[in-house]
Amino acid sequence: MGAIYLLEGVVKNYDWGGTTFLPQLLGSDNTTGKPFAEYWMGTHKQGMTHVLDQHGQRRSLREIGVALPYLLKVLDVREMLSIQVHPTREAAIREFALENKAGISLDAPHRNYKDQNHKPELMVALGPFWLLQGFKKADQLKTVFETTPEFAPLRNLWENEGNQALYQFVMEMPQQEVNIMLGTLLDRLQNETIHTSFEKDNPAFWALKASLLYRNNDHIDRGIFSIYFFNLVSLGEGEAIFQDAGIPHAYLEGQNVEIMANSDNVLRGGLTSKHIDVAALLKHTDCKGILPEILNVQHENGKPAWFSTPVEDFRLGQLFMRKKEKYQLNATGPLMLLSLKGAVELVVGGSLATLKQGQLAAYWDGEETLYLQSDQDTTLFLATSAIHSSE
Ligand SMILES: [Zn+2]
Repeated sequence: MGAIYLLEGVVKNYDWGGTTFLPQLLGSDNTTGKPFAEYWMGTHKQGMTHVLDQHGQRRSLREIGVALPYLLKVLDVREMLSIQVHPTREAAIREFALENKAGISLDAPHRNYKDQNHKPELMVALGPFWLLQGFKKADQLKTVFETTPEFAPLRNLWENEGNQALYQFVMEMPQQEVNIMLGTLLDRLQNETIHTSFEKDNPAFWALKASLLYRNNDHIDRGIFSIYFFNLVSLGEGEAIFQDAGIPHAYLEGQNVEIMANSDNVLRGGLTSKHIDVAALLKHTDCKGILPEILNVQHENGKPAWFSTPVEDFRLGQLFMRKKEKYQLNATGPLMLLSLKGAVELVVGGSLATLKQGQLAAYWDGEETLYLQSDQDTTLFLATSAIHSSE
């Protein structure tokens, strides 16, 4: 018999999170004042989602036999996240074994590989969203050198040897030299803000913000170089972007829905107080200049629209629903449904579930037709693994 379950995800209180967006969605008072950075839905061991079954019992998704190859999240980014790169699956398998062989324990702070999986990510902006992604194309990097005199000593190296050599040089530069070069830049920007304020489409805005977070007297975070060398991307509501293996990226500000392969393999490249393994980072970073690709879907009435990605671990789609209109969905496999606005009624066979405030998501086994109705115009997110999905 077909079934639908309401889900209870897991809140992650990382420092960089906001304090109001997720508590409001979840109907939580957040009396602790702690940041609510991420809300996880999936079967990851660091954040297991629970369901309430027909008998009112709270059980984990694992206990009802569900193991998902993906993790679905809602993020509220108030302060920028670290610059990061994720390995390919082949690299993860190889390096995971090497770290085991070297006797580095799984929870050691300098451990890079937590599992043997890749971690492609797809995010959809819920409003204005800012991020860094991949190296700028050569003509844009040229403009950076022309307009940032503090970087003049790096220009010859870049022109003669390219992005990879430039990145390696700044990532391996002695901290004292980083402090001098970036300190001079930041002092100039600080002076300029007396007369003009920088907009968010200017790397100067983010460099100053980063310096407030990650600067102390003897240490300026070298991730500030990447704010200038990487593409600064802005997404509007409903626009999406995909992070493939090797492409460096950092989320700067905004709220999103994100889906990723079930993995925790992150190599960091700055804007963080966490461990940076420069050699591992350089080995797995793709330094070619790219033009970030912004993904959109065309909404068709009554039919889900799926974002296209090259990976098979997950699919993320959206179903646009008009107020009070009824929809029906069929699938060949299980789906997770996420609603961030309005109340949505879900009926499968004999079971009924209502998504309303505090109850963002449901798990549907996909066996029988699902009937849906929303109390307002809304967009429902659908998450599934590619192998099981149908349109
Ligand atoms: Zn990432």
